[in-house]
Amino acid sequence: MPPVAALRISRERRGSAVHQLKRMGLIDPGFRIAEEGEWVMIPLTGVPDALPPGGELVDAAQFSKRGAGMPISSIRKAAALTDMEKSLLPSKWEMIGKALLLKLDESLTSREGEIGRAYASVLGADSVYRVTGRIGGRNRRPSVRLICGSGGETIHHENGVDYVIDPAKIMFSSANHDERIRMASLDCNGELVADMFAGIGHLSMPIAVHSSPRLIAAAEIDPLTHAYLLKTVHANGADSFFQAHNMDSMDLRLEGCDRIIMGYLDGTRRWLGKALTMSRPGTIIHFHEEVRRGGSDEWRRLIAEKYCSGRVKVIAVRRVKGFSAISDHMAMDLEVLE
Ligand code: SAM
Repeated sequence: MPPVAALRISRERRGSAVHQLKRMGLIDPGFRIAEEGEWVMIPLTGVPDALPPGGELVDAAQFSKRGAGMPISSIRKAAALTDMEKSLLPSKWEMIGKALLLKLDESLTSREGEIGRAYASVLGADSVYRVTGRIGGRNRRPSVRLICGSGGETIHHENGVDYVIDPAKIMFSSANHDERIRMASLDCNGELVADMFAGIGHLSMPIAVHSSPRLIAAAEIDPLTHAYLLKTVHANGADSFFQAHNMDSMDLRLEGCDRIIMGYLDGTRRWLGKALTMSRPGTIIHFHEEVRRGGSDEWRRLIAEKYCSGRVKVIAVRRVKGFSAISDHMAMDLEVLE
């Protein structure tokens, strides 16, 4: 029994459409979102009163419980592999711009080139990388190997933002997607915003594109990532109000910020003192950290009372994603009181 309806929308607008449809409770959990080139098909349990911008209702018959229209069946057909090998092909992947990131079973290593070509041909990817390990280090470098295509720079479109990135060198987590959509939904008009761990503007560029801040001052310590941050600023026409500094955020010279983004996970609390020197009463701090699963109550108390000396009020706490088998990526919004 296929879903009641399906919404067809561009890959770039998927995020905000899913966000809107989730709020309406209309997404059918029994089916996967189907991807075809630049488009996605979202299975629905009903017809929305108002369609998300750029969306159109299409025939839902192509969905089946296992997603018969899902690209994985086309990929299996395209790959010259044994049935056993085909059964091991992953039905999940990350698409960053025109680059595909895949996790492959060890037994497929000798066939990875053929497999990369099959995925690239069906999904319209220019490059295919095999994920060989976890994102790591202070600069959060991906651990991937190119198995098909030319590699290099690509532009990832998401929710109206163009991120210029080399996915072999810079992380881009689809699991942080809802957080980026949330940043885009904030009213930051006229604000002075500091982004202390900018990356390529993962969290601050949505504000630059969807709001009208007075100034965004971003610090990114890694020169390579900073180079792509500059490209992303330019790609989104934000040059006049987005300052991208290649520096340690401890060296930022700012005061009276309206909003401070601390999108980092490795002991971010060490920078809270610095964030407070850049604040004023009413500043909102978006604080992220890796937190032991089940420890978020203790975490929020520790951060608010010990690291902020009670100078803040916790206004929201949310789990962004699972981070390891025993920890989560948590985010907390703090309001500075004095
Ligand atoms: N904030 C983005 C997000 O939430 O998606 C990017 C997160 S990325 C994991 C963290 C970035 O902070 C990396 O690009 C890293 O190079 C940078 N970084 C680490 N320590 C820093 C510091 N002391 N000052 C400025 N940037 C730093």
